[in-house]
Amino acid sequence: MHVANDTLALIGNTPLVRLSGPSKEAGCDIFGKCEYTNPGGSVKDRAALWIVRDAERRGALRSGGIIVEGTAGNTGIGLALVGNACGYRTIIVMPETQSREKIDTLRALGAELVLVPAAPFSNPAHFVHTSRRLAQDTAGAVWADQFDNTANRKAHIDTTGPEIWDQLDGRIDGFICAAGTGGTIAGVGLALKERSDAVTIGLADPHGAALYSFYATGELKSEGTSVAEGIGQGRITANLDGAAIDTQYRISDAEGLDWVRRLLAEEGLCLGLSSGINVAGAVQLGRALTQRLGRPARVVTILCDTGLRYLSTLYNRDWLREKNLAVFPWLVRS
Ligand code: PMP
Repeated sequence: MHVANDTLALIGNTPLVRLSGPSKEAGCDIFGKCEYTNPGGSVKDRAALWIVRDAERRGALRSGGIIVEGTAGNTGIGLALVGNACGYRTIIVMPETQSREKIDTLRALGAELVLVPAAPFSNPAHFVHTSRRLAQDTAGAVWADQFDNTANRKAHIDTTGPEIWDQLDGRIDGFICAAGTGGTIAGVGLALKERSDAVTIGLADPHGAALYSFYATGELKSEGTSVAEGIGQGRITANLDGAAIDTQYRISDAEGLDWVRRLLAEEGLCLGLSSGINVAGAVQLGRALTQRLGRPARVVTILCDTGLRYLSTLYNRDWLREKNLAVFPWLVRS
């Protein structure tokens, strides 16, 4: 049996699973990359580790240093764990409107929290800008800058993409996922295209994001809203710049949530909404490629994080009703 040398060696090398319901629905093979099995429970552990290693190589982060980031979720959790494992303090700046669960989780992991009032990105008080200033003003601190620091997508060029290629022995026709920073889609896409330009890269964009319109028409325009956390981008971040995206789908929360329900009820997979939106996109891309190729296509998507991170939202009937979303039948039983 393989034994990992330390906790950080547990990041990456995640399993790939064939998703039975989505495969049947699309008439082809749909595979999910189980990123929720990373130590911090999400795809963002990879980016957190690469950002920290890059800062160390540049000499920006030294023993006893401080990592500062503006994030409310998975990146903060990844940075806190990597920081603990490497001997760095982690300061997370987040809007005070974030869920109790997230605040509690980050605190439990030992991150220092700075809560700021919610503000639009154009406002200097926005949590991302606040975190940049805090990093500049704190001795020994480095700003992780996950949106525009391309060490983020490099993690996926170096690891996630090659892992997917190797797990399928290169027998892959399509890859699709949603974008938050864009690190995953851009990095995996570039790594796969480098191995074969016959692989189609698709974007699954939630409502309220501007990337669907950008890749369809060249114009950044958003429509509607989404309750999905961690995805939905309104600009071309440095991580998205130069991404190889061939096709795009706009996916509703209702469609994504229906896959979250089915994957749990029929396959025992408990996931967050971004994973459901990714799977909905994979079914559409799988159908299109199957028709184009004249044989069952092989499509991969990302299962980003565990649903246990969303017990007070996606798995809470009152919250679902409040948001006008379908309540899972088993939540109504008791
Ligand atoms: N899903 C979830 C739950 C996330 O937290 C993130 C990270 N923001 C993503 C998907 C998207 O990943 P990326 O930042 O690499 O685009």
